[in-house]
Amino acid sequence: MNFLSSDWIVTCDENFTIIKDGAIVFDEKIIDIDTKENIERKYKNCDFSYQGEGSVIMPGLINSHVHLEFSANKMTLKYGNFISWLFSVIEKRDELIEKATSELISQELAKMIASGTTTIGAVSSYGLDLEACVNSNLNIVYFTEVLGSKADMIDTLFNDFKQRLYLAQKKSSSKFFPAIAIHSPYSTHPFLIREVLKMAKEENLPVSAHFMESHAENEWLNYSTGEFEKFFKDMLNQHKSLQTPSEFLTAFKGVKHLSFTHCVEANEKELTQIKELGASIIHCPNSNRLLNNTVLNLSYLNDIPLTLGTDGLSSNYTLDMFEEMKNGFFIHTNFTPQELAQKLIVAATINGAIALALENKGSLEIGKDSDFITFQIPNIEDENDVATAIILHKTKINKTYIKGKNELL
Ligand SMILES: [Zn+2]
Repeated sequence: MNFLSSDWIVTCDENFTIIKDGAIVFDEKIIDIDTKENIERKYKNCDFSYQGEGSVIMPGLINSHVHLEFSANKMTLKYGNFISWLFSVIEKRDELIEKATSELISQELAKMIASGTTTIGAVSSYGLDLEACVNSNLNIVYFTEVLGSKADMIDTLFNDFKQRLYLAQKKSSSKFFPAIAIHSPYSTHPFLIREVLKMAKEENLPVSAHFMESHAENEWLNYSTGEFEKFFKDMLNQHKSLQTPSEFLTAFKGVKHLSFTHCVEANEKELTQIKELGASIIHCPNSNRLLNNTVLNLSYLNDIPLTLGTDGLSSNYTLDMFEEMKNGFFIHTNFTPQELAQKLIVAATINGAIALALENKGSLEIGKDSDFITFQIPNIEDENDVATAIILHKTKINKTYIKGKNELL
């Protein structure tokens, strides 16, 4: 049994309870959590490890959406416009993938642990990140992705997907969870979507898909026009979108654990559909900014759980979730700083656990996994300032515990 105490514990439970002068008792799971005074009374002769002046203990961050196979990109890809970026991905894909060795991906995963992330949702297009993910100490929900809209390629694509999913499922463990990703409504044939979702339902696997990321996607799916018109004509001799946004969303009915990434162009009807599906929305503010996509209007989401992801280094400069929260904090101006700080922290913790179907993670509560981090912020008096201070003033991460073991020793 281990005892840690700190000036603040941010539990991220449903009331966003913050404990001043708190203590946590844990092994692999959280045994108790309360004020230090109460814990001292309950456990005789407990030897606390105090985390220092201004110390904070909070849940390890959950990065719900990342593409590790593009980890070699710095400025190879073209930022500023979604279609130009997509063309650059197609052009440079082989070069970047070759550079993203297991060693490079392992380094990025280690950096994520060092920056306070304990769980990720990794979208895998080729299975080339499998080895690094299996060997990592992070908790990983591994989304094997299906992609392709050419009718005569469907059998090949589906077989390739099934093979990659099978290899991932063989590695299933207490920290590695196979799941399914559908790339997007513009890039994936309805037949593939239907077949893959049938498998997800049968095997109760979490599912995630990109949805309504760009203006070009919106115009193509609704009217078969816009920047994607030329793209599809030139690349695939395709002249019409294979499905409407609403048809795409309807296909997901019955999937239990579901998330959609981006959704910045989703209209009221589509957001209502997403809500009725019980899905989460994964927000990637850095990626949206770099590709000059629309800013997600957080006020429109109503009761849809908001979660946070970095996307890949193909459209980000870092996989550090604190950077993602900080940039999100300055992008969304229709909330007070205090409200927004809390919203972003909830998105990066408990709501991430909901999106990834990990019910034992995301908040510090008795019986949940001991996935938490410690760091320091300047001394503050008012507990209402703690969330904002975490976003603005967090210093380096001192400890990252995953299932009760500090991975930063
Ligand atoms: Zn993505």
